Amino acid sequence: MANLQWIDTHCHLYSEEFQADRHEMVRRAIASGVGKCYMPNVDSASIDGMLELEKDFPGHCFPMMGLHPCSVKDDVEVQLEIVRDWLAVRKFAAIGEIGLDFYWDLTHTDQQHDAFRRQLNWSMEYQYPVVIHSRESLRQCIDVVKETGNGRIRGIFHCFGGTLEEANEIIDLGMYLGIGGILTFKKSHLPELLKTTGLDRVVLETDSPYLAPMPYRGKRNEPSYIPIIGKFLSEAIGINIEEVAAITSQNAWHIFG
Ligand SMILES: [Zn+2]
Ligand SMILES: [Zn+2]
Repeated sequence: MANLQWIDTHCHLYSEEFQADRHEMVRRAIASGVGKCYMPNVDSASIDGMLELEKDFPGHCFPMMGLHPCSVKDDVEVQLEIVRDWLAVRKFAAIGEIGLDFYWDLTHTDQQHDAFRRQLNWSMEYQYPVVIHSRESLRQCIDVVKETGNGRIRGIFHCFGGTLEEANEIIDLGMYLGIGGILTFKKSHLPELLKTTGLDRVVLETDSPYLAPMPYRGKRNEPSYIPIIGKFLSEAIGINIEEVAAITSQNAWHIFG
């Protein structure tokens, strides 16, 4: 499997979970064929670590810029200003991760909507793809993308966990499903769903350090596990692994350029 080329479209490599072995972890990913890792930003606290990884692994680790919905708090205006300032001074792979999260905290629902819309608008202004985080909010996220973008927003619904109808809506919007470790969990509906949708609009992600695939469920996740997810996917939908690697990598290429 080592000669196949993979891309991790979503990993928080700057997380303190990797403090002890960050560089070895990235080298393990590269050795496993995961040559490119795309890092979503969370908020102002994650930027320095993210840019440091970009510097340490040029051509391998790519930063995005955005404000995560779970970081939309009372200081949202300050946080968005920081995102805006960064967008003005340099290039990023995407605007992300942005979206709505109604699982953890409903205090700032209105501000989450507002921050999401504004950042979607910035993605069109800068012609960047978006990486969308939705938790207990997929329906709303799809609707906001439709209303705000009018077909002009492109990118990934990361950690996709919706229905076949929602998957088809996303595909009809010209966007992609981010698929990761959850696919390998026992009760996941994703293997069945992906048999129907096929891989034309699928990219792989780990969401490291979270959501490790089987047999590492519950442990720390890392990008070198992408081939495990790819192998599981290939067996689940009956497509050979070379093709899974080729199609998902090509899709990621298409999105991030
Ligand atoms: Zn997320
Ligand atoms: Zn994430």
